[in-house]
Amino acid sequence: MQYISTRGEAPPLGFMDVTLAGLARDGGLYVPETWPGLDAATIAGFAGRPYAEVFAEVVMPFVGDQLAATDLARMAREAYDSFRHPAVVPLVQVAPSTFVLELFHGPTLAFKDLAMQVLSRLMDHALMARGERSTIVVATSGDTGGAAVEAFRGSAQADLFVLFPQGRISDVQRRMMTTAAADNVHALAIEGTFDDCQAIVKGLFNDHPFRDGVRLSGVNSINFARLVAQVVYYFAAAAALGAPHRKVAFTVPTGNFGDVFSGYVAARMGLPVDKLLVATNVNDILARTLATGTYQVRDVVPTSSPSMDIQVSSNFERLLFEACERDPKPVRAAMASLARSQSFSVTARSLGAMRALFSADRAAEEEVAATIRTVRREAGYLVDPHTAVALAVAEKEPRDPSVPMVVLSTAHPAKFPDAVEAACGIRPALPDWLADLGGRTEHSTVLPADQSAVARYIQSHSRAASAGAGAAA
Ligand SMILES: *Cc1c(COP(=O)(O)O)cnc(C)c1O
Repeated sequence: MQYISTRGEAPPLGFMDVTLAGLARDGGLYVPETWPGLDAATIAGFAGRPYAEVFAEVVMPFVGDQLAATDLARMAREAYDSFRHPAVVPLVQVAPSTFVLELFHGPTLAFKDLAMQVLSRLMDHALMARGERSTIVVATSGDTGGAAVEAFRGSAQADLFVLFPQGRISDVQRRMMTTAAADNVHALAIEGTFDDCQAIVKGLFNDHPFRDGVRLSGVNSINFARLVAQVVYYFAAAAALGAPHRKVAFTVPTGNFGDVFSGYVAARMGLPVDKLLVATNVNDILARTLATGTYQVRDVVPTSSPSMDIQVSSNFERLLFEACERDPKPVRAAMASLARSQSFSVTARSLGAMRALFSADRAAEEEVAATIRTVRREAGYLVDPHTAVALAVAEKEPRDPSVPMVVLSTAHPAKFPDAVEAACGIRPALPDWLADLGGRTEHSTVLPADQSAVARYIQSHSRAASAGAGAAA
């Protein structure tokens, strides 16, 4: 299996190279040259199977000959052994045809763990095979950083540097990054905003001598390996509800369009997906784009679902490429327009192709709070604000009651206790195995919002930096 760039000007690569590269050299995103398919009997056979086995079957066609099937199966077993629920992604029914898919049983209580736990193992394996090391730098406004720390702590080949805005994330989120106590993991509290952190990381990637010197890698959601890992739970949930003999719809709380694009991949592989409903908070660029055909960046408004407070949804480029019948020219034009004027238009034909599977809506803050209250009252079930955005949107959409609606729950309510308590008066407790989080020793380094200060710190703490210097000498 080869991977091509959405902008058509980067060399095709195999799966492991794409996993290590992240972004394509032409600035585009990698997608597989063709979509592999799974037949009806295979999909039906997923019902009741252990999650790691379903994972191996769904993901293997994307890997091709770049990794032995036994290695992939072992990585999946190890990754999902760290989850605190035997079903890994259990379904909970909250209304006659509405099911919540709990994606928060991993070590950091958010759905990012499902992909990150596998990505770290894939990267370590690829680096080990090549005798290379790597430095991973990631900016986080919350969930990605914690998931990366848990996934990469103790990695033999990779060092991780997480940049977070000092004093601007929740206590639980910070502690998940600062209490790992592993030599290869570095939590950097930046004296600035999330945008400052992101600008520094972008700047480091654009500084080519630095990038090559420390062998910089990225683990954000543009990495195709993360998307492919997320395809698995769409199959697992749908099979549990009767697919492929029955269609299933999904509502996905969306920020960077990574999670819901994985649902699109599942549909392309043969899963009978009735509809993918994109749910946004008031940062509704995707809902506006699907309604009007114009992708127009506005300022970010802070909400109770901060992991979706995003103004540029990077993975939307992949859907655009698909909807343009995989012609990279209009994608390049759209991205140039985005860089120039913060907007681009989708042609009527491409918009029609998107609307065949996707619809979208937004939930305002009052609707999110009301949904947390209602679901608690009617179903005795506590949801976090990101899940509540999706439930609120699923509620508004016209529905065929014979098609089960699966609402993806991307975070445990205890990760956002203040918002949940404000909405319904109940403060969700952390699971027992995390109850001592508040007492664990924190390690972090405070640095100014200055790219060269961060670069110096990384240079002197990354094992890849010394290996790189040795190799150059
Ligand atoms: C990252 C995240 C999202 C958004 O996922 P995307 O793949 O960026 O669309 C939603 N909810 C939570 C809790 C998240 O951490």
